[in-house]
Formats: sequence, C-alpha cells, structure tokens
Amino acid sequence: MRFAIFGDIHGNLEALTAVLADAKERGCTHYACLGDIVGYNANPHECVEVIREMDCPVVKGNHDEQASMEEDLAGFNPLAEEAINWTRANLSAEDKQWLRELRMVRQVRDFTIVHATLDTPQRWGYVFNNLDAAASFSYQHTNICFYGHTHSPRAYVRDGVVTSVPFDNLRIEPGKKYFINAGSVGQPRDGDWHASYVIYHADKNFVTLRRLKYDIDTAQDKIVDAGLPQRLADRLALGK
Ligand code: ZN
Repeated sequence: MRFAIFGDIHGNLEALTAVLADAKERGCTHYACLGDIVGYNANPHECVEVIREMDCPVVKGNHDEQASMEEDLAGFNPLAEEAINWTRANLSAEDKQWLRELRMVRQVRDFTIVHATLDTPQRWGYVFNNLDAAASFSYQHTNICFYGHTHSPRAYVRDGVVTSVPFDNLRIEPGKKYFINAGSVGQPRDGDWHASYVIYHADKNFVTLRRLKYDIDTAQDKIVDAGLPQRLADRLALGK
C-alpha cells in the first residue's frame, strides 16, 4: 500500500497537479494532506476543490484557519497577511466552511498527520530542531507522524535520544519513532524550487522523498495577474 503524503500547497495548482500526477504514476493508491491548502499563490479555490474531491484525510493548516475566519490576522507577517486577505476574497463560502471543519490531528492507518506540532497543534509552532521535535514526540502515539509548516523536508528520529536527518529514502525501523516533514508542494523554502512530497511504502517500511519540476512560469504569471505581491512570484523560483 502506497500513500502519497503532501501539504503546504498554498494555492499553487500547477505544483499540485504535478504532484498528483507523479503519485499516480508511482503507484500511490492512498493520499493524506498535511494542510495549508490555501494562502500565497493564485488558485486557492481550485486547490480546495481538487483536494475536497479526493476525499482523503486532511488536517488544518494555519493559512486554512486564517483564510476561513473573519477575525483579525494575528502573528502573520505583512506579505502573508496581504496574501490571506486576497485569499479570503477568492474563496467561496462553501470553501471556507470546508476549511473551518478540518481537524487538527488525524490518525490514518498506522500513522498520524498534523500540520505543525503534536504538543500544541493549535498554536502553530515550528519544529526546527531536535528539542522542538522531542516535545512533539511525547504526544505521538504512532511510530510515524507526518507534518508540514516549515516547508523544508526533514526527518526526526527518536531512538532514546532525538536526532535529525535530511533524507531521500528513509527506512522505518521497529522500536523507533519518526516525525517526518514532507516539505511543501506549492512554496518550498529549503532553497530548492521543486515541489516536494513523500511516498510512504506502508508494507515495505520506507519513506521516499520526491522533488518535482512543475510549470512554475504559469504559477508565477497567475500571481502577478491576480495582483498579488511580485515577491510571492519571485520567491517560488528561489525556493524560499
Ligand atoms: Zn505553509
């Protein structure tokens, strides 16, 4: 059984299309989405529609939360805030309702999915180091948890102590716990512009990181045409 696990799509329909085509080609039959479907890029409604129709497990991201509320924007930088305001205006009432109803944490078969952290998922903290990961691990009841939010693929492993590794192919060993970041579909920030997601080979106990080319020119043109900040188009190419 192969799961495609992906998140931080952020309204980038070109990247999402490339990821789903690759997952299908690679024999994935199941999907799980780590949240932040909207925000930053120009096709939030279309991305919500695609993922809603997939009918797969999805958890809520901070942009999904902000874009579907009416309240003020707390804790967002000006660039994200401008994008969120634009996104709110470009989602239907039905889209917002669906986003509002997403859960923060879900168990899918033998693994867990969350957008940010397991210790306080609603506070949207970032796991950037072994200490942050250790806090999350203490709330992790499955061997593997996939998460997003940092837009940077990374695997934390708890085997007594917590260590972290970048990975291409990660073997899942019994007795250890794994907190695995799938990177970002629609706005990678690890210096590599290629769309990122992971395939979990559930029967073979390994996780593969995928990085893909997509039609970035179209995604950038749409951002500019929509009147979103030019910087949002520029950063896609820089992978940050
Ligand atoms: Zn995000």
